[in-house]
Amino acid sequence: MIDETHDRARRSWVDSANGHAEFPLQNLPFGVFTPPGATVPDARPRGGVAIGDSVFDLRAAVEAGLFSGLAARAAEAASGPSLNPLMALGAGPRRALRQQVFALLAADGAGRGQAEALAGRLLHRASDCWLHLPATIGNFTDFFAGIHHAANGGRRRDPNNPLSPNYKYVPVAYHSRASSVRESNVAVRRPSGQRKLPDEAAPTFGPCQKLDYELELAVWVGPGNRQGEPVEIGEAAEQIFGLGLVNDWSARDIQQWESQPLGPFLGKSFGSTVSPWIVTAEALEPFRIAQPPRPDGDPRPLPHLWDDRDQQQGAFDIALEALILTPQMREKGLAPHRVSQSNTSDLYWTVAQFVAHHTSGGCNLRPGDLFGTGTISGPTKAGWGSLSEQSADGTRRISLASGETRSFLENGDEAIFRAHCRRDGYAPIGFGECRGMIVA
Ligand code: MN
Repeated sequence: MIDETHDRARRSWVDSANGHAEFPLQNLPFGVFTPPGATVPDARPRGGVAIGDSVFDLRAAVEAGLFSGLAARAAEAASGPSLNPLMALGAGPRRALRQQVFALLAADGAGRGQAEALAGRLLHRASDCWLHLPATIGNFTDFFAGIHHAANGGRRRDPNNPLSPNYKYVPVAYHSRASSVRESNVAVRRPSGQRKLPDEAAPTFGPCQKLDYELELAVWVGPGNRQGEPVEIGEAAEQIFGLGLVNDWSARDIQQWESQPLGPFLGKSFGSTVSPWIVTAEALEPFRIAQPPRPDGDPRPLPHLWDDRDQQQGAFDIALEALILTPQMREKGLAPHRVSQSNTSDLYWTVAQFVAHHTSGGCNLRPGDLFGTGTISGPTKAGWGSLSEQSADGTRRISLASGETRSFLENGDEAIFRAHCRRDGYAPIGFGECRGMIVA
C-alpha cells in the first residue's frame, strides 16, 4: 500500500509545498472550492487538491486533458460542486487520481512539463479561494468511541459505573443532523432551548448557558452498500474515503434536560463544523497503527466486529489539538490558547468497526455520509477534548494564557481544531483547521 507518493524525498515544483506543515506533496487531500472570480471566468465550485499554499484545480486539469484512464474518470467525478461522485467510485479510481496528481506536481514527475506550463490556470492561492463543504451529506452519525470522554461524562452520573453496560460490546452512536453541518469559518449561532438546571424547579427557554465544543475525527464514507447487505468487517476499511475534523458543538444544558430517554436532539442539531480538506485513506497509509489492546478484563468484540488485520492496522496515529481564541486574544494579537492534546489511538473502536456495526442490521451507507468518532479525549486533563470535561460541567474555570478564564464558550470565542501525522521516515502531513466562532 506504501508507494512512491509516500516517498519523503520527493519534492514539488510548487515551492510552498516543500516542508509545508499541512499539505506537502505526500498529502494531496481533496476538497471543494470556488476559485477567485477575477482569475477564472467560470468561477463555480469544483473539486481541488491542497498543495502547499495553493489549490490545484481538478476541473481546469480535466479541461486541459491532463488525466488518462481510471484517473480521468475520477477527476471528472471530482470536477463538480461536491465530491460525492468521486466518493462513489471507491478506492481504485481515487488511488489512480492521487498517483497522476502526484506525477503532475512532483518536481521530477512525468507530468511536470504539461502542468507547469498551465500553472496560471491550474493553481490558485488558497487564501483567495472559498472553501466549501466537501460533500453533500446525506446522513451524519456520531459515535461515542473516545473511551476517556465517555468515562468522564459517565463518572458524573455514576462514579462507580461510568460506562454503560453495552459500551465495550457496541460502538455506541446516535443519528445526528446532516442539514446543519457547515464548513470551517462559518459562524455558529448560540442556540436557545429548554434547559433546567438541577437547582431549578421547572425548565425555562432561553439562550444556552453551557455551550461546548467536541473535538472529533470526521470519517467520510466512500462507495456505500445496498440496503439489507451488511459490510463484513474485513471489507469495511474499503468504505472509508478519508478523514477530516469535526466539531460536534454541544449545548450541554439543553442536552442534559432533553436526552432522557432517547439521547441528544436539539442540544446537538443546531450546528456542526467540518474541516474543508479530506485526507484520503491513501495519504494516511504510513500512519496506520495497531488498535491498542483492550485492557485486561475487557470482553473481546463479537465475531462480526473482529478482524485480525483490522486489529493489526485499523487504527491511526493522528495527534489532535483543541484551541480557543477569544475576542481579547484577537485584539491583542495573541496566539490561540491550546486547551488539550490527544491522539486517535485513544479511540476504543476502529473506523472499520463503525462501518461493520452501522451496516450489520442492513442499514445502507451512501457516498458522502459522515461519521464523527465521538470526542477524542486522552486519559488525563491535558487531553480532555471538551470544555464540559475540562470545567467539570462548569463547576471550575479554566485559565487561559491571556489571563481570562472560561468554563464554557462565550460569544466571540472561536474553537480551533488541528491534526497532524508524524512518523520517522515519512513526510509529516496535516489536516488544516476546523474552526468556528460563536455569535449571539
Ligand atoms: Mn459528539
